[in-house]
Amino acid sequence: NNIVVAIDGYSSCGKSTLAKALAKKLHFIYADSGAMYRSVALYFIRNNVDISNHNEVVKALKNIHLNFHSRDYQTHITLNDEDVSAEIRQMHVADSVSAVAALHDVRVEMVRQQQRMGKSKNVVMDGRDIGTVVFPHAQVKLFMTADPKIRAERRYKELLPTNPSITLEEVFESLAHRDYADTTRKESPLIRAEDAIILDNTDLSPEQQLDFALNLVKP
Ligand code: C5P
Repeated sequence: NNIVVAIDGYSSCGKSTLAKALAKKLHFIYADSGAMYRSVALYFIRNNVDISNHNEVVKALKNIHLNFHSRDYQTHITLNDEDVSAEIRQMHVADSVSAVAALHDVRVEMVRQQQRMGKSKNVVMDGRDIGTVVFPHAQVKLFMTADPKIRAERRYKELLPTNPSITLEEVFESLAHRDYADTTRKESPLIRAEDAIILDNTDLSPEQQLDFALNLVKP
């Protein structure tokens, strides 16, 4: 039987860094579920999809085709055959993604695609609802947290090279807004699965986090 490692948690607390390292070490597939929601949000922005209009949303979803291309355990996602991996990291996408991810039709479609990915292959998937909704029977579940200030600083350092005018306060606000939206939405809110193990990485190095996770996969 194939193995699924589910990693959930707040925005910018190192989920993808750990998930990539773990996938690399174990030779599993790394699946970035957030990149899927970000790509849908990007399509909605580009095509002025009115998210309050159910028919428009359903129609748009039919025209969205997402694919992962795994290279070096980095996220390469295509939206209708265009590589959007860099563009989906921009702030305007980050600021609109939570509203898009709260839509029922969007979630049904994403979850369906995610479950298909974990059906026959060993995967590490990170997101917000992986251990609760997408793979409630995942063999290993982690719930990651970290001090909000540390998370904002980490994300700020990542964004600065491509967004030289950005401020730490803006990043902090953007994360706080996203966490609030993700934890309070009606459908599949971000919560810890009962059987998920908490990993607070405020004071942990990437190596320490990897060791911790590896011990869970191979006890
Ligand atoms: O993980 P990342 O920060 O790229 O996710 C972007 C957004 O996508 C989250 O803030 C959340 O609104 C949404 N998301 C989700 N469920 C997931 C993964 C991401 O709702 N499994």
